[in-house]
Amino acid sequence: MTHKPEYGLIGLGTMGAALALNIAEKGNKIAVYNRTTKVTDEFIAASGALRDQLVATASLKDFVAAIQAPRKIILMVPAGPIVDAQIEALVPLLDADDLIIDAGNAHYADTNRRFKEAETAAYNFLGIGVSGGEEGARHGPSIMVGGAQSDWEAVAPVLRAISAKYEDTPCAEHMGAGGAGHYVKMVHNGIEYADMQMIAEAYAVFRDGLGWTSTQVAEAFEQWNTGPLASYLVEISGKVSRATDPVTGKAMLDVILDQAGQKGTGRWTAIEAQMLGVPVPVIEAAVAARNLSAKRDTRIQGAERFGSPLQPLTSDDITPEMLEKALTAGKILCYAQGFEMLDAASRHFEWSLPMSNIARVWREGCIIRSDMLGDMAEALDKSSSQNLIFSAPFCDMLMDCESALRATVLAATKAGIPVPALAAGLSWFDTMRTARTPANMIQAQRDFFGAHGFKRLDDVDAPHGPWAAQ
Ligand code: NDP
Repeated sequence: MTHKPEYGLIGLGTMGAALALNIAEKGNKIAVYNRTTKVTDEFIAASGALRDQLVATASLKDFVAAIQAPRKIILMVPAGPIVDAQIEALVPLLDADDLIIDAGNAHYADTNRRFKEAETAAYNFLGIGVSGGEEGARHGPSIMVGGAQSDWEAVAPVLRAISAKYEDTPCAEHMGAGGAGHYVKMVHNGIEYADMQMIAEAYAVFRDGLGWTSTQVAEAFEQWNTGPLASYLVEISGKVSRATDPVTGKAMLDVILDQAGQKGTGRWTAIEAQMLGVPVPVIEAAVAARNLSAKRDTRIQGAERFGSPLQPLTSDDITPEMLEKALTAGKILCYAQGFEMLDAASRHFEWSLPMSNIARVWREGCIIRSDMLGDMAEALDKSSSQNLIFSAPFCDMLMDCESALRATVLAATKAGIPVPALAAGLSWFDTMRTARTPANMIQAQRDFFGAHGFKRLDDVDAPHGPWAAQ
């Protein structure tokens, strides 16, 4: 008699199909179920040598019956109410100690709520963030797990086996209780927005400032991918810059509409950072830039009404080497903000997030994977609560790259090229090194109109200004 699989997966879309094949490939039998049976049939038909590891089912009842208890059931359906509906449909069919694993992009607060609901029910629950897109899911994603330690341990061998490996170390880690895994994935996505935006800003300086062709831009990105900026996003930016449109023969980038899509995880990061009172201006600027990109009609109207501000730049204003350093600085500043947010969330939610291991889990498999994350992990090992900008080697790298970042923001501003994320990073950095900010003015204004009082620099006991009498 052939043994039943311990694992099951619901939702054979882009991610679910790839993840199921990955799990099967690592020697695990897995039952699969999809709302639309035709999709299951096509999935099985295309599964090739992995066919024997897959148990196809056409109803939820058959699906649950096909799995060996205690079951481990992965949900890979769209985040939100669909996950709740799927859990509701599953629960009456489950046995005590079965484990539901939501591997979609859930909002961490939904995951927290689902944990609470699971507490009073017989089943157990894990919320895991999976990054790496379809390719990652198929051959090794980065996996961020939230939930009880015992449930993590129950699935750790399989999650580690299917995850990406960085020099043999699996990129799958337990982040903490409840929604910790989805929270870390959310911040990952916020950083991803920022990384992508800063690369796009460098592209804008090349294209609109220096008048470079996409092929020239590709050469710069390919060069950068051999230095401190080496990363998946810089690598694919080189590839997309080099690609030619098979329809028109033009550079692919030149035929793509300039409206960026989003599923909302970057926005969630910006909102949650505000809730914690942690400034993440580079991520906020990247989210705003995507929103602005969507307003194409208004932008076209603006270009007609006000005229384009674009002025050409020369190599006296900016060089590829300066841009590379500017992007390096921007990247450090963005990650410093992201890790500061994670540190604050860790304390706020009492998660004890494994800060340096978060950097390690991101070294392979995920969209923001980059060489720099190894150094970040080491810096966070030394002090996980100290902002990265104060840690070696980033302190020295920033000092080395700061003038290039400033020159880039200046040149872009002079040329009328918006660089909101790089400029936000520079402003944040300038503020971080300003011992006396103008917030004394804000305090005086608040006291003037609201008698809110202020602290003084000296020992004089006079918490209000003289304006009440004026
Ligand atoms: P797809 O749209 O490719 O697949 C969605 C799957 O969910 C399909 O199997 C679909 O079944 C099923 N589904 C949709 N609606 C329902 C419903 N009402 N009831 C039951 N099943 C339903 O999505 P992805 O695979 O891209 O994404 C899945 C999850 O993974 C999402 O949370 C997404 O945010 C997350 N994710 C996606 C990444 C990506 O790069 N695509 C990366 C990381 C995470 P049917 O065939 O019947 O329509």
